[in-house]
Amino acid sequence: MRIRSKSFLPSTAVLELTYRCNHSCLFCSCPWFSKESGFEILQELDTAQWKCVLDELCRCGISGLAFTGGEALLRDDCLELLEYASSLTVEKTETVDGELTTREVHPEIYLLSNGYLVDSEVLECLAKLDVRLSLSLPGLSTFEKHTGHDRADLVLKLFRQASDMGISTTVNSTVTALNLHELRETLSAALLAGAGQLLMNRFLPGGRGLRNADQLALSENQVLEMLATADDVLTRAGRYGNLGTEIPLCILNKVELKTLEAGTRCSAALGFFVIGPSGYVRVCNHSEKRLDHFMNWKELKRNDYWNTFRLRKYLPAECSDCSLKLDCDGGCREAAHITGGNVDSKDPLL
Ligand code: SF4
Ligand code: SF4
Repeated sequence: MRIRSKSFLPSTAVLELTYRCNHSCLFCSCPWFSKESGFEILQELDTAQWKCVLDELCRCGISGLAFTGGEALLRDDCLELLEYASSLTVEKTETVDGELTTREVHPEIYLLSNGYLVDSEVLECLAKLDVRLSLSLPGLSTFEKHTGHDRADLVLKLFRQASDMGISTTVNSTVTALNLHELRETLSAALLAGAGQLLMNRFLPGGRGLRNADQLALSENQVLEMLATADDVLTRAGRYGNLGTEIPLCILNKVELKTLEAGTRCSAALGFFVIGPSGYVRVCNHSEKRLDHFMNWKELKRNDYWNTFRLRKYLPAECSDCSLKLDCDGGCREAAHITGGNVDSKDPLL
């Protein structure tokens, strides 16, 4: 099944409601937490402006809306915006069995959170609006070391409560050199507590994580161990999971995966795009490059950086003779940009 949007925009938008966060994760990739990026903190959109953005997204046929931050729930209007988004409709065009079909549907809505402000009022709202909840769990014994707070038990309790209330949940786990040793226990605990599926990320340098890369970055062998461990846990549990941060195919080919889905093609500006707290578009949440304001989204068609990602003009020179290059974008293009200086630099793993 393939989803098309009514505009040239990808079918999913990631909405960073706020720059603020109540965790201080060592691995956080938000560009505004990196001194090196020079990423400016501008005034955040207010409630009325976010509602205009949501209206326009739905007019453009964007059928997936992922609310995040920072920590989205730090905004007093987060639930109001979720409620507003869920009241909208969007024309969704899909190719099903080779046939184009168009339906008027409500957007699929996701809330990504660290869980600290998720209480029974929030859970009831998510259940009522059919919003999917993704909670971050970067380790058990290492949770505090990674986030600055000892809240792993709280996250596990929330998975239990959400699952009892019929809310669809995802455990979102960033894997680093510090928590790899307990990845099996971390994922098992989340799935046993009721998390429906897994979104795993390998640590990528960027944001606050850039200055912590020496202690967090995974070697190739550690990435292979991460993939094999997660795949085994998911297979035994009979659950679905995927890796959110693309892997070079020449590394992925070294491990056989039964259940975990791991991509090798960058989906920035193709599968999704990001609207930051001040309304400016970026190709991916890892990107330090602010493009046009979303309300001028048609300008993106003439934006060189956007088109570099749309047209996949970023394969590293080192990959030019590779026989696998039609199925691979050379790893994460924004992590390569941040560490190597250009979008066509090598992935830090290579
Ligand atoms: S294109 Fe580059 S990263 Fe991808 S498989 Fe080939 S050598 Fe590896
Ligand atoms: S830049 Fe591309 S490869 Fe990297 S995380 Fe974003 S979508 Fe994935």
